Amino acid sequence: MEEYDIVIIGGGPAGLTAGIYAARAGKKVLVLEGRALGGQIVNAPDVRNYPGTPSISGVDLSMNMYKQVLEHGGEVKFERAMGIKDKIVHTDGGEYKAKAIILATGAENRKLGLYGEDKLVGKGVSYCATCDGNFYKDKTVAVVGGGNTALEDAIYLADICKKVYLIHRREEFRGDKTTVDKIKALKNVEMILSANVKEILGEEKVEGLELEIKDGERKEVKVDGVFFAIGYEPQANEFADSVELDEQGYIKTKDGVHTSTEGIYVAGDARAKDLKQLVTAASDGAIAATVAVKEME
Ligand code: NAP
Repeated sequence: MEEYDIVIIGGGPAGLTAGIYAARAGKKVLVLEGRALGGQIVNAPDVRNYPGTPSISGVDLSMNMYKQVLEHGGEVKFERAMGIKDKIVHTDGGEYKAKAIILATGAENRKLGLYGEDKLVGKGVSYCATCDGNFYKDKTVAVVGGGNTALEDAIYLADICKKVYLIHRREEFRGDKTTVDKIKALKNVEMILSANVKEILGEEKVEGLELEIKDGERKEVKVDGVFFAIGYEPQANEFADSVELDEQGYIKTKDGVHTSTEGIYVAGDARAKDLKQLVTAASDGAIAATVAVKEME
């Protein structure tokens, strides 16, 4: 069985930053990523709030971080970690022994749970505007949500699509005011506020949405695609036997780094915390790696 000083589970900004810091500290490091490198950030078309990079796509930023891990001597394997037992990480491709483990498993797109939502993924339902936006050139789409992801998705899609409906369940947006103002200036974006999606219309492909608007009134909008951007759910269930989770499924920490189990640390959106941003994920990764390195010496 291959042995490492530090195995990092998750190749998003938190995990990759942890990889950079641990490798730079001279440790034998493995980062495991079971899906797409970069995690949630691959969905961001234009990141503008990461210090030092005025504008960069989430994909490019993730690739830069990935290259930095390799440049500093870290290893990255594209395998999904399934669990941890006695400091051995079990993946769908093997087993790795570690002196320390950093959980940077992040969070995953929340689903609305509507009939047809799963069946119509790739047939009009999407959770990633940058991945799928080009399929809807000159078509009509809806973005559902009121956070920064939904707002940025709406701006991105407005450039490609004929019309974009931005559907949000409240009157106020959770996302940044400057981004909301930008959207208000776009002629092909129509906001539908205080509206909940009740049904996805169409059996073989998305044809429209049935909305419940004020006073329980129903409204139908015809769309070719719908992009759900309603937040994220923590991805830590596989490790519930190894570390304590809170009632929402986030990894509990006493101090933001240590989990309930000695030698297992946490970084990024998988941990319970207030501000979940790219910069705080990277910061978490740096802290977790530095603490792990210090405590193994
Ligand atoms: P978020 O901030 O959690 O926003 C989720 C949105 O979805 C909220 O508006 C919420 O409505 C809505 N929502 C949640 N559950 C819903 C449901 N069941 N039905 C209808 N609407 C629902 O998620 P996010 O926008 O993906 O952002 C995640 C984090 O990443 C945030 O901290 C965000 O600032 C950050 N982010 C940053 C950037 C950037 O800085 N460039 C880009 C993207 C994301 P309510 O508001 O009513 O709760």
